Amino acid sequence: MDKNRRWIHSTAVLKSREDISVTVPHPSLLTEWVDDMKQWPDVSYIDIVNYFVFSEGVDGEELRNYKSTEAYNYLHSNKIGTVLFKKHCDFIFLKAAVEPSQSVNQAKHTAWVMLKESGVVETVGCSCIAGLGKSCSHAAAILWKVFINPKYATFIV
Ligand SMILES: [Zn+2]
Repeated sequence: MDKNRRWIHSTAVLKSREDISVTVPHPSLLTEWVDDMKQWPDVSYIDIVNYFVFSEGVDGEELRNYKSTEAYNYLHSNKIGTVLFKKHCDFIFLKAAVEPSQSVNQAKHTAWVMLKESGVVETVGCSCIAGLGKSCSHAAAILWKVFINPKYATFIV
């Protein structure tokens, strides 16, 4: 099944296609986000691959691009702002401001991802044009950032 189609996005809510009784507020309407890495879910490589491989219009070749080029560059050029956490019902939301890759003069994009506590990626969104397709390198960059920053890392230092 095309995982990118599992959730219908509107400006106010995200609605499950599998269970129409399940709706959650659009993350732009959620408040009281916290900067707390310890609450981040454990996102695995498989979780990220599963979401983007089965995303509409994203084939495996493009997925490799997410890792190797644009999203990876975001990760290592500090273009991702603080990743904020919000739990709502059974879902975890993470969001961050991401600088556009082309110009520092452009407005930052606000990207977000919605996951289960297990790390399974449910859906993603972004203020950029590609974000409307529920698949963009800004949202992917958040997932890679969580992937390489396991929550227990804060206890090591
Ligand atoms: Zn985006």
